[in-house]
Amino acid sequence: MDQLIELAYLAAAVLFILGLKGLTRPKSAVRGNLLGACGMLLAVVVTLMQRGLSFELIGGGVALGAVIGAVFATRVQMTAMPEMVALFNGFGGIASTLVAGVALTQLDTPGKPELIATALSGLIGAVTFTGSLVAWGKLAGVRKLDQIIVPMQHVTNAILLLMCLVMAYGVVNSSEHAVLCYWMLSAVAFVIGVTLVVSIGGADMPVVIALLNSYSGLAAAATGFVLGNTVLIISGSLVGASGLILTQVMCVAMNRSLTNVLFGRMGPKGDGPSADEVYANVKSTTADEVAMLLEVASRVVIVPGYGMAVSQAQHTVSDLRKLLVARQITVDFAIHPVAGRMPGHMNVLLAEADVPYESLREMDEINPTMEQADIAIVLGANDVVNPLARTDPNSPIAGMPIIDVDKARTVVVIKRSLSPGFAGIPNPLFAADNSLMLFADGRQAVQDIIKALNEG
Ligand code: NDP
Repeated sequence: MDQLIELAYLAAAVLFILGLKGLTRPKSAVRGNLLGACGMLLAVVVTLMQRGLSFELIGGGVALGAVIGAVFATRVQMTAMPEMVALFNGFGGIASTLVAGVALTQLDTPGKPELIATALSGLIGAVTFTGSLVAWGKLAGVRKLDQIIVPMQHVTNAILLLMCLVMAYGVVNSSEHAVLCYWMLSAVAFVIGVTLVVSIGGADMPVVIALLNSYSGLAAAATGFVLGNTVLIISGSLVGASGLILTQVMCVAMNRSLTNVLFGRMGPKGDGPSADEVYANVKSTTADEVAMLLEVASRVVIVPGYGMAVSQAQHTVSDLRKLLVARQITVDFAIHPVAGRMPGHMNVLLAEADVPYESLREMDEINPTMEQADIAIVLGANDVVNPLARTDPNSPIAGMPIIDVDKARTVVVIKRSLSPGFAGIPNPLFAADNSLMLFADGRQAVQDIIKALNEG
């Protein structure tokens, strides 16, 4: 029986790895997701087949979790997905802390490795839980969180961490007080989660969430050691490693180092130009004018951003692509890695609207070709096309790679007003000589352009 269980765990681990591999390409992502889910189902079923489990409690837990999950999944807006991911990371963290804590009371003669793993579970799981709750609050726009200032933040965190190490020593070496030390360690780690994340700027939350995701995996892997459960060790390590890789990819996309994200504020805030100065020469346009420009274009690049998600314009923009392609116009979508509010946000929305994967071009691929674009349509994007990132070393987004739409012959920016994007800074692109602003809701504007093209 034991061998069969280990074999099934191995099969589940292989499915997880194949699933992750599938998730690296949009084309194979759905299959990858399914493979990962099958691996998880297998792991859960096999774990349930082990002896000594109380099915009443497990059944109750599954039912409660399923109801909560279903309510979240059906109610969540696409724009609120990052908050939900943050919350779920937190649940993963607290689950590891609680399970390791209970296991500590049940282990007969735990060896040092199990006790070290238990302490790690408590520490990482608790930091993940409260850190994720703060990240969730920040993304949900709880303004009060931005006003909290941790006095002497680095010193405070160092002292708290030292306290955790002392308690961890107690967990490993004091058999009498191990359980007490464990819960005290977790309590201090709950505080660290808050003090670490609360002072990180909202613009850095995506990176923090990817990192917390990695932490939740590490906490699960440590709990796997405590329970002697191979599949939990493997799946936790996979989440930990992939979360770290994603964190690194996002840091590169925002041109930030991880240390800078965790321990510094977002870039130096110099006295940048005021919005009035920047927007002195803004030219606005109409859907009819944009349609006329499109009629004579041979290459169009569409740059979607957060506003496309807000206005749910993905299906309409997919219709516009079809219309232009039918007129022998080449249409590409330029995808910035942090456009929107979560990694892959634009890819998910455009895939939902059946935009072919081949039309989606990553930033590094599209940028060298921007000069050959007759028209770049910026649909609800702002920070990811802000040339200040290239030109102003004092800008909060200085050095962040952007999509070079300003190099296209004509740029049409669709948004409702001149309000700033997530980084809260003006964008000189809107007043550039080759830019035209189409002030409207994203979906409505694209619908109007389609109408004008059909009538023209
Ligand atoms: P931005 O947040 O820079 O700008 C979005 C723009 O969309 C706004 O200027 C807004 O202008 C416009 N908009 C909002 N609603 C609508 C609508 N209904 N119709 C048309 N336009 C609309 O978005 P970007 O995608 O360019 O950049 C993403 C930013 O978010 C970056 O700073 C990134 O670092 C950050 N971030 C990214 C995450 C990720 O993982 N992708 C997660 C969290 C943050 P107006 O109000 O005038 O319409």
